[in-house]
Amino acid sequence: MEASLPRSKYEEDVFINNHTSVWGSWWKDHQWGYKCCKQTIRNSYCTGSAGIEATEAAADLMRANITRKEAAEEMPAPVEEKRLATWGTEVPDDLVLDEKKLSESLKKEDERRREEKDERKRKYNVKWNDEVTAEDMEAYRMKRIHHDDPMKDFLN
Ligand SMILES: [Zn+2]
Repeated sequence: MEASLPRSKYEEDVFINNHTSVWGSWWKDHQWGYKCCKQTIRNSYCTGSAGIEATEAAADLMRANITRKEAAEEMPAPVEEKRLATWGTEVPDDLVLDEKKLSESLKKEDERRREEKDERKRKYNVKWNDEVTAEDMEAYRMKRIHHDDPMKDFLN
């Protein structure tokens, strides 16, 4: 009696390509697959548990990459940070600058920058550790915009 029955009346119940489960025994991301190896390619050969591990490792890697990408996107761009520091709130609104002092400070700042380029001189240059006036700070800020700001080409 049993022998006369077909092994299966459904085509899906026939194991193919070494799979130990039938096509359609697994469902993921709107795709049918094989439960034995979690593959969604019908013509694929069974890769068993090794295939499952490989698939999960790939998924882990993808999740790690997404997390890393999201973290990178949350970080402010370095250019924005620098511009905030340049025009940010570090200078009080009621700051009154002496124009004469400022022009002197600008000259000193120019000089300092020239000397900074000269490694030999800079080693012995200690005078800038002494006293920094508001004008010196402003001169530094102004020069920094002109010399270091990556957006300077757009400003000029
Ligand atoms: Zn399989």
